[in-house]
Amino acid sequence: MRRSRMVASIVGTMLAIVALLLEVSPVGERLPAGEHSDRAARPPSLSGNDSQPAADMAAVWESWPRPPRVGLQVGHWNSAAAPDELARLRHNSGTAGGGYTELEVNLRVATLVKDRLEAAGVVVDLIPATVPIRYQADAFVAIHADGFWSPEKRGWKLATYWRSSPASEKLAAWLLAHYNTLGLPYDPKVTANMRGYYAFNRRFSHAIASTTPGVILELGFLTNAEDRAMLVNEPERLADAIAMGILSYLRDHDPLDASLRLTPPDPAPVRPQAPITAYSGPSERSPAIRTIYPAEILYPISRERGWYKVPLPPDLSRIGWVRVRDVIEARPRARWR
Ligand SMILES: [Zn+2]
Repeated sequence: MRRSRMVASIVGTMLAIVALLLEVSPVGERLPAGEHSDRAARPPSLSGNDSQPAADMAAVWESWPRPPRVGLQVGHWNSAAAPDELARLRHNSGTAGGGYTELEVNLRVATLVKDRLEAAGVVVDLIPATVPIRYQADAFVAIHADGFWSPEKRGWKLATYWRSSPASEKLAAWLLAHYNTLGLPYDPKVTANMRGYYAFNRRFSHAIASTTPGVILELGFLTNAEDRAMLVNEPERLADAIAMGILSYLRDHDPLDASLRLTPPDPAPVRPQAPITAYSGPSERSPAIRTIYPAEILYPISRERGWYKVPLPPDLSRIGWVRVRDVIEARPRARWR
């Protein structure tokens, strides 16, 4: 009895070890959950094939109706030229650390990714802060680097738009799987600013088409010495990982199946008729965050059991909940304030 229990325990331990070894993909649940994450592609595992240079991609494109096109947005590039609807970008030149600006890091990495994708037969657009109106491509990746007041904070992160397509989720999963091999820590604290990134936001005309799979990637913290060392000294490694993530996604994607690129529509903007309270959860027992006034327009992300989930004005960087019955439909504004 004791002996068989011991054998069972040893077998159990061995099975656990095998399970751990099989779990080559570090993706797991850490992919930021989209509003439709139930439909999201399962995080792919990296096989040996996926870590090879993409010399064989020409054969993949033969089944495509046209060569694949990828947009790489260089975060903050030429932001001074932002149109009126994105005027708030004009003075946002990004972060800096250790004598390096975010823009130069973003531009260096994006250029190296472009070289790699073009070598694999992909048409690449390097895109500035202002996205071409309703930009269409097979993938769009916005490249940024983070900054923080504390030099301790580090890690990279990645996000899709609030309501993203299965194709966007799959692109995110492949990028996550490849970028995670670099050894930089993954920071799961994706911000509302990333999930609501302006280049994904259909309220702006200078945004990607809703059918363009899009992801925003924060390479790491420029204000952290360890992250910065990789961002500044090893841009080729970062670019290899990003390019492999994109190519793996394209190889895994059926360009003829348009349903994969469909995105749920945005709920209509709303506003209160009298001052109301925004809570931190969909319940009056949740802590109150702030008062919302009738002049403020809210852009719901989703609706759950009589509550709207909304990014809170003025900077939309925090999420709150308001009761559906407390608001009425608002005329959409042309721009955020
Ligand atoms: Zn940035």
